Amino acid sequence: VTDEFTAGRLEPGVIHTFAGGTLDRAAHLRSDGSRIAELLDSESTRFLPFRGLDPLIVAGSPPALGWLPRGDIEGLLEVELAALFVGFEDDAARFAIALPEQECDTPVADGSSFRGVREVAPLLRIPDASLVAMGRSLAAWNATHGHCAQCGSPASMIDAGHARRCTDDSCGAVQFPRTDPVVIMLIHRDGQCLLGRAIRAQRYPPGLHSCLAGYVEPGESIEEAVRRETWEEAGIRIGHVRYHSSQPWPFPSTLMIGCLAEALPGEARVDPAELESVRWFTREELQVAVERWDVDGVLRVPPPLTIAHQLVKAWLAEGSGSDWPRP
Ligand SMILES: [Zn+2]
Repeated sequence: VTDEFTAGRLEPGVIHTFAGGTLDRAAHLRSDGSRIAELLDSESTRFLPFRGLDPLIVAGSPPALGWLPRGDIEGLLEVELAALFVGFEDDAARFAIALPEQECDTPVADGSSFRGVREVAPLLRIPDASLVAMGRSLAAWNATHGHCAQCGSPASMIDAGHARRCTDDSCGAVQFPRTDPVVIMLIHRDGQCLLGRAIRAQRYPPGLHSCLAGYVEPGESIEEAVRRETWEEAGIRIGHVRYHSSQPWPFPSTLMIGCLAEALPGEARVDPAELESVRWFTREELQVAVERWDVDGVLRVPPPLTIAHQLVKAWLAEGSGSDWPRP
């Protein structure tokens, strides 16, 4: 492993929020109905309820996940509630329980409450935030895929929540949870970075700018998506594209693919349908923005929870030159 290779990675010890899981997902057990039934009945198994996609959290420093034993969720499993097998942690089987939003009589111990993932994730231990991401995405997918995509018949959960099968036997189509790839790129040239302010950012704090980003389209590579999105949104052609790191983003189920993209010469122009503005920022401006990310200013970057923030930091740490080491 060379310095060129490791350069631009996150600083040692820094892992994107929602990555860094330590769970044994035990995928081979999902389709083993009798084993899953056994685990659902086991005294040592723990259940994490999500209400309206918000996990149960026990207050503390750091806050902890509100794992409940079987006895505390008795009754909940009798109705048509989904118990989603997420794996093993500390030798105990773990399930996420998806409760409807209006479900209010869930047993909640003192100091526990259902909390929004965006708000609580930065406070959690790294593996806990990762588990919340998995549970939230899986619960959201099951909640929105009640019908078969082929014939429209009801689809029922199989594989402990990791697939759904059409209940019409003549169809029987199986669907799997979807993860949507999004490219997010730190566009740089001559020691400056191009950041944009999205149209929807009108409700964002003053000065907030971020990396350009967009969904990878069918039949498109990551590099092609980076080049197309940058051209569409900012009118800039991209040369070299380098993968940096990725982040699961469970709102509801996206994989953010972080890249460093070298801009070719040319003037930036804004796609008014997508962006309010795009601008080149200097290294000095970015340094201040990263340190004072929660303070309004000419430039404000998204919080450390986001890969956009981490890409800016990595670029600052790596150097501002345009002569990037080529793999
Ligand atoms: Zn069907």
